[in-house]
Amino acid sequence: MDDIVALITLDPKTRAITDLSVTQKQFRFKCKRCAVLCCKLGGPPLTKKDIEQIEKAGYAKKDFLEPTNRNAENLPQMCGTLKTRPDGSCIFLQQDLEQNCFTCSIYDYRPSLCRLYPFSLENLDSKRIALKIIPCCMGLNNPEGNVLDYKFVSCYLEHLLDVILPNKKCN
Ligand code: SF4
Ligand code: SF4
Repeated sequence: MDDIVALITLDPKTRAITDLSVTQKQFRFKCKRCAVLCCKLGGPPLTKKDIEQIEKAGYAKKDFLEPTNRNAENLPQMCGTLKTRPDGSCIFLQQDLEQNCFTCSIYDYRPSLCRLYPFSLENLDSKRIALKIIPCCMGLNNPEGNVLDYKFVSCYLEHLLDVILPNKKCN
């Protein structure tokens, strides 16, 4: 499968989407919550908003926050990292023995980077970016999934801005 699924044109000033061209018309995505790969790569880096969300879910910082920004050299606005178990899995990954699967115990409050997986962006020029997929994900081409439309891509970009905007500092 080609890893580019859509081409997005943005207004350079407002960053609003001015054109969306889906290159794989049949493409659908819905997370299967399998946590097969994405939750076993070490706890993800967290934005200030991510930390606030997890606190809203009822957890104290000392129980989930690692102050180091492992894997976040290019994301200086990250305020720490989710704690990781010795086997590399995120501390919020839990096994559902009844359903024989893994789930995220804070799914509705999960961090921005968890919401962005398995998509990534590549700048093509000053206005256009390519939306790409990371092929190792069980939710790709999920028949129950959402098509790539304006709403889907807008939501994705919103989470991305939380991660990359330099004005969203930790303090
Ligand atoms: S993003 Fe993909 S790999 Fe991760 S839990 Fe969802 S379906 Fe599974
Ligand atoms: S917070 Fe949830 S979705 Fe994110 S890595 Fe941990 S278990 Fe996976």
